[in-house]
Amino acid sequence: MTRPFLNVDVDGILLCPLCGESRYTHIDDVFVAGRPREDGEVVPVHIDSHGRTTSDNSVALPIPDVGRRHAISLGGWCESCGGRFAIEFLQHKGQTAVAVRKPTWVPVDI
Ligand SMILES: [Zn+2]
Repeated sequence: MTRPFLNVDVDGILLCPLCGESRYTHIDDVFVAGRPREDGEVVPVHIDSHGRTTSDNSVALPIPDVGRRHAISLGGWCESCGGRFAIEFLQHKGQTAVAVRKPTWVPVDI
């Protein structure tokens, strides 16, 4: 069985994964929970829409638990409902799990 996890309209425009209707979404961020090796320490990486890259512990990954492998997610928001979302691709046991999440934002030590 397959099921769509993202919807697009007839013009190929992404519909908001939160409200399901808006065509006005923005994908602005890429987050990578990198892993140099399986079960290794997570290397958090953030690339914003300006092309700026941050790779240190100040990056708040929108992925609460990355399991044993790496995960890549695309962060976005919707003009209509105002919601923020993350489209996640998570490697697990040789497969790619996909999900749409509301980002989990955590305080950053400053
Ligand atoms: Zn929406």
